[in-house]
Amino acid sequence: MPEGPTIVILREEAAGFEGRVVERVTGNSRLDLQRMRGERITALCSWGKHFLIRFPAFTMRVHFMLFGSYRINERREAAPRMSLQFDDGQELNFYACSLRYVEGELDLVYDWSADVMADAWDPKQARRKLRARPDMLAADALLDQTIFSGVGNIIKNEVLHRVRVHPESQVGALSSRKLGELVTQAREYSFDFLRWKKEFVLRKHYQVHTKTICPRDGSRLSYRAKLGRFQRRAFFCETCQVFYGEPMPPPEPIVRASRTTTKPRTTAPARLTKQATKKTVKHVAKKAARKAAKAPSRRGR
Ligand SMILES: [Zn+2]
Repeated sequence: MPEGPTIVILREEAAGFEGRVVERVTGNSRLDLQRMRGERITALCSWGKHFLIRFPAFTMRVHFMLFGSYRINERREAAPRMSLQFDDGQELNFYACSLRYVEGELDLVYDWSADVMADAWDPKQARRKLRARPDMLAADALLDQTIFSGVGNIIKNEVLHRVRVHPESQVGALSSRKLGELVTQAREYSFDFLRWKKEFVLRKHYQVHTKTICPRDGSRLSYRAKLGRFQRRAFFCETCQVFYGEPMPPPEPIVRASRTTTKPRTTAPARLTKQATKKTVKHVAKKAARKAAKAPSRRGR
């Protein structure tokens, strides 16, 4: 799945299309793609995992989801979801992505300060958002696009290992210093990711993502297929990644009906239920009588 840095690479590669008029549009999207024909691209920008093609009156938002991809002046065998073509035969092709028109001013729609790759990134704001949600798991926090827009699963796993935090730690249990490290590294690692991806060496730098041994201490890494609210793969080291917070409570015990209750526990046949109720009533009455008999002697002491 393309993460924020990958979209930054697309933005840089496609920069030459800024200011150009779309001559022809094709694609299997159900949106009215022809709306873009004859329109001039005023800017190409990104917000986290969103690639934004701006036109004077509206914006086309491209989200690559899990399997989306793009080609510039090249085609894949698959049918494009959207193909923007220009007068000199150049083209921008998008595959298996989610498209949406965004109306009006983008500044009203997007919080640019949440994008870890943006110049407008605001770490203080991120800290405030984290402090407001102390029960959130560290892994969920990093994947929350309203806090760390652009951070995907690879960045999440690698950042948590870098800052030595267990993915199931609670945000509220992290010290102010740890929280600061998490916020700083969400951005720093994203820029490392960008550099390595451009040099085609990203995978070589994975420390835990898809790995089995911790390079820091040689421990066998833990793996979870679905961790946290986002149910994403987690690779982490139980030796060097510290768990902060309260241990998970054990599963709720099955609550048994109390013996004094007169309500039937299950949908037992009426006859049985009646018997059981009679017995319970008798038992309660006996107990009350015993108590009453004892009471005077206790008062007398
Ligand atoms: Zn380790």
